[in-house]
Amino acid sequence: MPYGFNFDVSRLSKSFFRGLATAAYEKNMHRRVGRNVRYLAEKLKICELTGMGISDASMLLEDLVDVYVRNLLDKEKFLKTKKRALFLPHCSRKYMDNRCQARFDPKIPSYYCAHCSSDCLINKATALGKERGYDVYVLPGGTCVPQILKKNPYEGVVGVACSQELKEGGEPLKNKNIPGQAVFLVKNGCANTEFNLKSLNEIL
Ligand code: SF4
Ligand code: SF4
Repeated sequence: MPYGFNFDVSRLSKSFFRGLATAAYEKNMHRRVGRNVRYLAEKLKICELTGMGISDASMLLEDLVDVYVRNLLDKEKFLKTKKRALFLPHCSRKYMDNRCQARFDPKIPSYYCAHCSSDCLINKATALGKERGYDVYVLPGGTCVPQILKKNPYEGVVGVACSQELKEGGEPLKNKNIPGQAVFLVKNGCANTEFNLKSLNEIL
């Protein structure tokens, strides 16, 4: 499910989000982050840096902190897993039309990158995932996750998506007690979206 607003926080550094989430987690703030996040968004000048309104910035910040906290809570268990899957978002493909040569298999359901463009983020992330021994899926939506997990006994999952989709896509993992790690999109919009490849590399 997409946000009702667009964002581009690619100008904010990775350490900014990490510091924010770690502080929230250590101070046990994530349990009541909703009350504090508006204050944080104002203090950290998120609106000025991104051009977002305060309500949208607060909602996004709250979701991002939530993703980071869940990563921290799941990390130890995730590191012990062997058979893993990487779920990538179809919206980060270089092309969303038939210039993208990816094959779609409705039975899985997933796209499989055909590596037509060396500068495509999904191409690079697919290569990275395969190199690390992951089964890589390029998903048209979070609703594909339960179907894939039903057919494949993965021990751990890494997911890339917008933070709202990550929260929803994380539910089937929780239900199956599968530890997950997530990388959120720094630019949404359901087409030409972006995520940080370095963050993905670290998590893999
Ligand atoms: S590199 Fe892969 S995902 Fe990107 S446009 Fe080509 S086939 Fe599609
Ligand atoms: S992951 Fe991409 S396609 Fe899915 S809701 Fe988020 S921005 Fe849209």
